[in-house]
Amino acid sequence: MTALATRQQNDIAPASSRSVDPILPHTAVIKSIQHDTMNIATYQLAFTDPVVAESYRFLPGQFNMLYLPGIGEAAISISSDPAQPEVLLHTIREAGNVTKAIARLKKGDLIGVRGPYGSSWPVEKAEGNDLIFVSGGLGLPPLRPAIYHVARHRERYGQVTILTGSRSPADLLFPEEYDSWRQHDIEVIVTVDRADDSWRGHVGVVPMMFYQLRPHPRRTVVFTCGPEIMMRFVIYEALARRIPKECIYLSLERNMKCAVGFCGHCQLGPFFLCKEGPVLSFDRVEPFFGVEEF
Ligand SMILES: Cc1cc2nc3c(=O)[nH]c(=O)nc-3n(C[C@H](O)[C@H](O)[C@H](O)COP(=O)(O)OP(=O)(O)OC[C@H]3O[C@@H](n4cnc5c(N)ncnc54)[C@H](O)[C@@H]3O)c2cc1C
Repeated sequence: MTALATRQQNDIAPASSRSVDPILPHTAVIKSIQHDTMNIATYQLAFTDPVVAESYRFLPGQFNMLYLPGIGEAAISISSDPAQPEVLLHTIREAGNVTKAIARLKKGDLIGVRGPYGSSWPVEKAEGNDLIFVSGGLGLPPLRPAIYHVARHRERYGQVTILTGSRSPADLLFPEEYDSWRQHDIEVIVTVDRADDSWRGHVGVVPMMFYQLRPHPRRTVVFTCGPEIMMRFVIYEALARRIPKECIYLSLERNMKCAVGFCGHCQLGPFFLCKEGPVLSFDRVEPFFGVEEF
C-alpha cells in the first residue's frame, strides 16, 4: 500500500477548525435545495466563515454531523465532488427528529456542520483495477464523490461499472447524471424492485445485476453502500466470483453521536465506525457484519 493510500484509509481530512475544537459545529447557510424523491432532498451548504469555507476539504465517503440547535445532530454523508469542496452537498432522507426538521428548512436558513469525519473509499489504492460500484437507494449519495473522482481520473482505472437500484423508478437518485457518467466510459446498470408502465430497464434486486458482469477476480475492487441486507448479498455475489474479501469495501451505518471515536455509540466489535469506518474492507468486519446495534 502506498503512503498516500495508508493516509487515506486512516486519516481525517483537515478542516481549519480541527486544531481548535474537533466537535465545534460551524454555521453554514442553505444555498439551494433539490427535491430528489418524495422524501429525499439534496441540500447545498456554504460555510458562513470565509476561513472555514476556504480550508474545508473532504475525501469521498466521509460524512459530516449536521446540527440543528434544540433538536439534535445527524450523521450525513457528503454527496458532492471532493475536487469542488466549495460545492458541499448532502442528500437527506426524512427519517426521524433531525432529518424531518431539516426537511422543513428553506433556502437561506442556517445549519450547524462539523466534520468531515471517518474513513474514505480507497480510490487511490484501487487504481489500476476494474471497479464495481454497487448501491441501493440512499447508498448512492455516499458513493457519488468516489464516482466523480473516478470519472475525473478515468485513465487510472480499468473497466468501471455502477450497479444501482431503488424500490421504484420514482425512487432512483440522480438519474439525470447517469448519461454523464456513461460519457466517461462508465457502464451504468440500473434496476428497480417494482417497475411501472414507463419502465423499460431491469427489474430485480441490485445484487442480481452481478449476473450482467464477468468480473476478473484478481483485478476487481467493489465499493458498496446501501441497506445491510443488500450489501450482504453483494458480498455473496462478489465472493462467488472469487473477488477477495480485502477488495470488497462497504460503508457501514450505525447510530453515531460524537463522531470522533469517544462515546462508543457506533462501536462494531473493535471498530468505532465514526473513526475507523464508515468505509471498511470486508475482511476486517466479517466477524461482526450483520450484528445489530442495541
Ligand atoms: C456514516 C453515516 C452516514 C449517513 N449518511 C446519511 C445520508 O447521506 N443521508 C441520510 O439521509 N442519512 C444518512 N445517515 C443516516 C442518518 O444519520 C440517520 O438516519 C439518523 O438517525 C437520522 O437522524 P434523525 O434524528 O432524523 O432520526 P432519528 O430520530 O435518529 O431516527 C432514527 C431511525 O428511527 C426511525 N424513526 C425515527 N422516528 C420515526 C418515526 N416517527 N416513525 C418511524 N420510524 C422512525 C427511522 O427509521 C430512523 O432511521 C447516515 C448515517 C451514518 C452513520
